[in-house]
Amino acid sequence: MALAYVGIGSNLGDPAARVRDAIAALASIGSVRARSSLYRSVPWGRTDQPAFINAVVRLETGLAPAALLDELKAIEARLGRTPGERWGPRVIDLDILTYDDERVESAALRVPHPHLYERAFVLVPLAEIDDAYRPARDALQASSLEGVTRYAGPAE
Ligand code: ADP
Ligand code: MG
Repeated sequence: MALAYVGIGSNLGDPAARVRDAIAALASIGSVRARSSLYRSVPWGRTDQPAFINAVVRLETGLAPAALLDELKAIEARLGRTPGERWGPRVIDLDILTYDDERVESAALRVPHPHLYERAFVLVPLAEIDDAYRPARDALQASSLEGVTRYAGPAE
């Protein structure tokens, strides 16, 4: 069994519902050992799109990294993701952030996720459920950290 961190994001339709759906679906491919709160984050990369809802899950799984990625893509498809622009709006995005202490460098998969240490929307939820990532989170600029806030529910 391995422990993987899976990053979840959505900014189309009902993003909070899709993130919760994704967490439920992850339970079918492993054991969800911890889950962060939901966070609202301002778009990264391309800023002309709706805000994201993000979360991170610690998943215990017997799947090897490549098989895990295949299952994540299958869940994305089931939840309605269609191929779209990179960094553009998406119904659901599931990324492997880490997989034990393994490094994977293939055309289809890079682990640890290459942008892990630069994205507040990953490090804020990750540090919530794993203290080891607090220094990395705290090293981010205040301006990026301010873009990620605890999601309390739909705006009134
Ligand atoms: P992004 O998540 O970077 O916004 P996509 O979700 O569209 O972009 O992913 C594009 C491709 O990135 C996937 O088809 C997958 O093969 C590849 N990829 C490489 N490393 C990873 C990883 N650690 N987790 C998820 N996908 C990855
Ligand atoms: Mg992705």
